[in-house]
Amino acid sequence: MLPTHAPARRCFLTPIPQLSSAANLLASAADSLLAGDTANARQLVTGADMPVIAAYTALVTGSVNPLVHWQSAMPSVGAEFERSAQRMPSSSSERAIYVRDGWRCRYCGTRVIDRSMRTRLHRYLPDVARWGARNADKHAALAALSASLDHVIPHSRGGTNDELNLVTACNACQFGRGQWTLEEVGFFDPREYPPTRDSWDGLTRLSRLVTTSNDLQ
Ligand SMILES: [Zn+2]
Repeated sequence: MLPTHAPARRCFLTPIPQLSSAANLLASAADSLLAGDTANARQLVTGADMPVIAAYTALVTGSVNPLVHWQSAMPSVGAEFERSAQRMPSSSSERAIYVRDGWRCRYCGTRVIDRSMRTRLHRYLPDVARWGARNADKHAALAALSASLDHVIPHSRGGTNDELNLVTACNACQFGRGQWTLEEVGFFDPREYPPTRDSWDGLTRLSRLVTTSNDLQ
C-alpha cells in the first residue's frame, strides 16, 4: 500500500547538489590528467570524495526505510516469475545504451561515469581515487556516480535484458529499488522522459590518456 501522496516521483530522494559538483570536479581532474598536471588532478579527485555523498547513497541503498522507499519490505519473489535466461548486453551494447541516455541516470538525472574510466582514474591516482573492497574504502563520488544498466521491470519479476527494458542508472537508483517494481515505489516510468544529451561524456575522455608503465604508480 502506497502512501496517499503517491504516486509522483522519479526517484527515491532528490539528488543532492554535491553529486553534480563532484561530477564537475572529476571532469576537471580528467582534463588535468590529459594535460599532464597530475598534482592538480589529485587535488580535484580528493575534493570530489565528499562524505555527504556517501551518506546520501547509503540512505537510498541501505536498510528499507518507509520514508525513503515507501515499502516496508522487499517483495517475496516466487517461482511464478521466470527469470530471463538472456545474456546481458555486450560491453559495446552497454556503452551504446549509456550514450543513448547521455551518460545520465534515467531516474534522477545525475551525470554518471564509465566504470572503466573509474578504474583508469584509480590506476593513475590509487591513493585518492580510492577503490577498496569495503564501501568505506571507496571514493564516495566514484562509487555514487558509477554507471550501470538497470532493468526497468526487474529481472527477478520477469523483466528481460532487451535494451528497451534497460536504462542507465546511478548507484543509488540502481541499488535502492532492488526487486520492487516502479508501481510499488511510486516511480514514473523513466522511459516516458526523453534522455538529456549534451557534451557530458561519462569521463570517456580519459580513454585518450596514453598509458605507459611509467605512468602508473
Ligand atoms: Zn539516479
